[in-house]
Amino acid sequence: MTNKYLVGAAGSSELTSMTAADLAQKIHARELSSEEVTQAHLDRIADIDGDIHAFLHVGADEALAAARQVDEQLDSGARPASPLAGVPLALKDLFTTTDAPTTCGSKILEGYMSPYDATVTKRIREAGIPILGKTNTDEFAMGSSTENSAYGPTHNPWDLERTAGGSGGGSSAALASGEAPLAIGTDTGGSIRQPAALTSTVGVKPTYGTVSRYGLVACASSLDQGGPTARTVFDTALLHEVIAGPDPYDATSVDRPVAPVVAAAREGARGDLTGVRVGVVKQFDRDGYQSGVLDQFHKAVDHLQSLGATVVEVDCPHFDDALAAYYLILPCEVSSNLARFDGMRYGLRVGDDGTHSAAEVMALTRAAGFGPEVKRRIILGTYALSVGYYDAYYVQAQRVRTLIAQDFSKAYEQCDVLVSPTTPTTAFKLGDKVSDPLAMYNFDLCTLPLNLAGLCGMSLPAGLADDTHLPVGLQIMAPAFADDRLYKVGAAFEATF
Ligand code: GLN
Repeated sequence: MTNKYLVGAAGSSELTSMTAADLAQKIHARELSSEEVTQAHLDRIADIDGDIHAFLHVGADEALAAARQVDEQLDSGARPASPLAGVPLALKDLFTTTDAPTTCGSKILEGYMSPYDATVTKRIREAGIPILGKTNTDEFAMGSSTENSAYGPTHNPWDLERTAGGSGGGSSAALASGEAPLAIGTDTGGSIRQPAALTSTVGVKPTYGTVSRYGLVACASSLDQGGPTARTVFDTALLHEVIAGPDPYDATSVDRPVAPVVAAAREGARGDLTGVRVGVVKQFDRDGYQSGVLDQFHKAVDHLQSLGATVVEVDCPHFDDALAAYYLILPCEVSSNLARFDGMRYGLRVGDDGTHSAAEVMALTRAAGFGPEVKRRIILGTYALSVGYYDAYYVQAQRVRTLIAQDFSKAYEQCDVLVSPTTPTTAFKLGDKVSDPLAMYNFDLCTLPLNLAGLCGMSLPAGLADDTHLPVGLQIMAPAFADDRLYKVGAAFEATF
């Protein structure tokens, strides 16, 4: 391999290219220690992250201490705390952690230490998974390239001049480069699936309400969902079962058992999709997308058919309005959620010198602390929610949201899963879209609809585009609470494509 940044590069430790499942098996059999596995990943980070910039914070001492604790427990004969105990992970810097700063990629939270762990963080710790550090993100998860991070962009290990996607480019780049075997992302409009597609990794946006949002700093509360990412479908499934499940601290958490995603991934790996009905969404299979992406997508659909699936075309006419609805609903929720960053309670405070009123301190703090995209969305949302515009914009967007949910319901009467390319093109160059917000928004075309409907989706590698030689993602979508279908179809595809 000539690219020293990709997983498995010559000179990197073998431990940083293994799957999480294999690492876990060897750690639990005491053929490897969690400490040496964790150290190998910290070494890889020290080696290349100066160029990749996947991490905003690396917690080497904390990760090694957690790893040693797992090793001691296993040495004393205790059963592993979870199937992933001892395997380290990278956590998107949107989840609170008591032992590392939580910045959300924003200056307004520079150095901010949370007094509590997010539920996702807590479950990871309880599962015996050492946390390597916090990964880069567009500011408060608003963006599609990590270029809106106040701390500089993440570079795609496939080509350092290109984006690793966003907002969770840090987590996906960490996986693709072998800096971490497991990572956590958040997906409000595609921020798990889209970076997964651009880096040839696997990412799942679980059904809304199945992964706790407690301690996940809010972007748009009706859309946000944490989820698992890894390099294989099976590793992703293992992590999914660690983080999902009811949580009394999240009022939108649903009280029902987690879909059997690990069993589904095992079943799928046999490569038989007989009886599975796959719908190709007409709206996401069209001219204007990069031809290399469409070619790979068509190959992927043919391949699913060859595994026994029945393929039909489905029409979801309101998906064409998803972008407009999303970019109204999201800013409205953002304008409300981000009101809490007022210079009084968290992070940055500017102008607190006795010469300014409280209102002035708030204004100065927000002016200095938020970046341009966050400000744009706060202004848009405030405008759309104001008297006289509320019905025309916010209420109208909510109606469109209902129509999109109805399109999905109709499609799932004919199909078990829907498929599309995850993104209209492969990874674009850093800088290409920064001055054109609409072009940036348009990149989310294929991933947004299911967030609006609260459903689940996966992106997994579907080879390289012939024209750009860069990764293409296949998106699989499934109905609410049928996350296991993603894993069955995804594992079958991965095992045989
Ligand atoms: N790129 C989309 C946005 O900017 C989605 C972000 C996300 O899923 N967090 O809003």
